[in-house]
Amino acid sequence: MKKCAVAELLLDAVYPRRCPICHDIVQPKGELVCRSCAGKIQPIQEPYCKKCGKPIEKEELEYCADCARREHVFEEAAGIFAYDQTMQKSLMKCKYGGRREYLDYYGQMMARHGAKFLKRWQPQAIVPIPLHKTRMRLRGFNQSAELAHALGRELSIPVQEHMLEKNRKTRPQKELEENQRRHNLLGAFSLGKDFHPLRSIVLVDDVYTTGSTVDEAAKCLKKAGVGKIYVLTLCTGKGFSIRF
Ligand SMILES: [Zn+2]
Ligand SMILES: [Zn+2]
Repeated sequence: MKKCAVAELLLDAVYPRRCPICHDIVQPKGELVCRSCAGKIQPIQEPYCKKCGKPIEKEELEYCADCARREHVFEEAAGIFAYDQTMQKSLMKCKYGGRREYLDYYGQMMARHGAKFLKRWQPQAIVPIPLHKTRMRLRGFNQSAELAHALGRELSIPVQEHMLEKNRKTRPQKELEENQRRHNLLGAFSLGKDFHPLRSIVLVDDVYTTGSTVDEAAKCLKKAGVGKIYVLTLCTGKGFSIRF
């Protein structure tokens, strides 16, 4: 048995892996999600907005109401799951409850269901949306970077974790109204130590709501000479307010 497998078994005995959907200990052991929970979240199906990937009600509409009335800086975005109550609760527990292991499952799902977009976009690198260093220290991980690395590993695309930096702390976007969201992020990103003016990249984030975050990041990269910028997120769509 390999050393890492032993370490994993020991770790699993002390901190059994939790299921990202029901939050109980995963059944059966050794899986990333309970077999009975895996079908409870389904990838977004068409029709979705041709620009931002948000589900839309009418097939004959090309764009969602948001994209119909304003321009985005990125070329095209896609999301894997709808940001419903199940996903909102799951990501809250992941980011604020220390359930980093949920990202193993979500990284796999992103690679499986996002592969078709990446094949079409042909990005030279995957760039995660950075966290400010204070928040990174508190949380211990950047969920977007974890997803980006899983995607890069599965699809053999290089990950550039330090192309972009978050240079100041901002209020969580979910606490703000749409117009405040844009203002909150103005100038919040700067070029990181590994910046290269690549021909095309894909930005990776956990949630797309109005696109303010990825637009601001794309603005910074485009100004510095990056060509085409695509966006892939784990979830997309408007959130609901929930308690848990
Ligand atoms: Zn479960
Ligand atoms: Zn849209």
